[in-house]
Amino acid sequence: MPASQVGMMIHGQEAAICNSCAERAWEIVHEEMEHRTENEAARTIGEAMALYTPQSIKAFLDQYVVGQERAKRSISVAVYNHYKRLMHSLSHPEEGAEGAEIELDKSNILLVGETGTGKTLIARTIARLLNVPFAIVDATALTEAGYVGEDVESILSRLLQAADYDVAAAERGIVFIDEIDKIARKSDNPSITRDVSGEGVQQALLKILEGTVVNVPPQGGRKHPDQKYIQVNTKNILFVAGGAFDGVQKKIAQRLNTRVVGYGRQAELAEVDRENLLRYITPQDLRSFGLIPELIGRMPVLTYLEPLRREALRRILTEPKNAIVKQYIRLFELDGVKLTFDPEVLDYIVDKAIEYKLGARGLRSICEAIMMDAMFEVPTAKRKSFRVKLDYARNRVEAMQTTLS
Ligand code: ADP
Repeated sequence: MPASQVGMMIHGQEAAICNSCAERAWEIVHEEMEHRTENEAARTIGEAMALYTPQSIKAFLDQYVVGQERAKRSISVAVYNHYKRLMHSLSHPEEGAEGAEIELDKSNILLVGETGTGKTLIARTIARLLNVPFAIVDATALTEAGYVGEDVESILSRLLQAADYDVAAAERGIVFIDEIDKIARKSDNPSITRDVSGEGVQQALLKILEGTVVNVPPQGGRKHPDQKYIQVNTKNILFVAGGAFDGVQKKIAQRLNTRVVGYGRQAELAEVDRENLLRYITPQDLRSFGLIPELIGRMPVLTYLEPLRREALRRILTEPKNAIVKQYIRLFELDGVKLTFDPEVLDYIVDKAIEYKLGARGLRSICEAIMMDAMFEVPTAKRKSFRVKLDYARNRVEAMQTTLS
């Protein structure tokens, strides 16, 4: 086109290009790049899926997460299906292609279990296995648009940050939404109280969980009219939500009682594991707890984590691949010191964690209290070994207690 008819000519050494052609060229390059990332995504995930089966995913989880057999099994299946579904959609992108008419539903996951039982750990371990971006968000910080707090879109800002702003990577990532139970509706009857913070947030979450294109403020926080947004498609993002659902046990017990007594089957009642009612949780119980049915429907994989008892806590100290005790031993090894713990010390740490009611979270802080002085002194003490005995451990913990009180 002659220069007179275009807005602007960009001159090279031997030719010139007008602004509209330059724009078109940019579009072509951009489309091509997008296509490439999609193909790349298909390839990397394809390679990953060829390597994994639900059983091998669970075997990987077993290296890091003690116990929680039920949860690990259902998550392994859900994750396998999720990425299989992703492959399916990438390999049949056109409508009408064979197999394309069967839409595979997304398998977002809801983990119910007391705090410190491994919910976050499981989600994080899966992200590590698949090498995908991973973000943790706290549902209590979220509010409905227009209220004080963070917009629901900020969930995706976190994921983008975790992905170094690589949108294609973020779109295959995993988000862990902690404390989902805290946005439950406070009353069973929605018409009596309109609970903005709870139900409004649940409504806002719905769309994101199901799959939609969201305008995400790159830095998070509140949406601002002047801010540039990044568009993120949530269709293939796997959402894992976790919550303790304190008090849901009562609702489960009620439901079990009415069912069992109603049919006069006393024997079944006797078999109910009263210590761990969460294992009987159903979507119906979540509904009576205050989650809206639409949200429950968007997290079709519902599973529970068991309370960690003494034996599990003891194993957590020493068995996982990055167990706390192994970490201390490694730290000392780097200084050329052989660190050992007497078995009674490990039992003592578990006892204290139970006494403080801190679950697995408590193990670390108790170990820190015991090891603090040793870590301070050993590097300069020029010794070859350090053995932690029961008296030493007890003294350290008691010293910490007196400083605290
Ligand atoms: P929550 O259930 O509250 O999300 P986390 O997964 O954050 O709990 O657990 C807190 C810490 O306790 C973890 O970092 C991990 O070290 C330890 N932990 C909890 N449960 C387990 C478990 N089942 N196996 C191994 N470690 C665990």
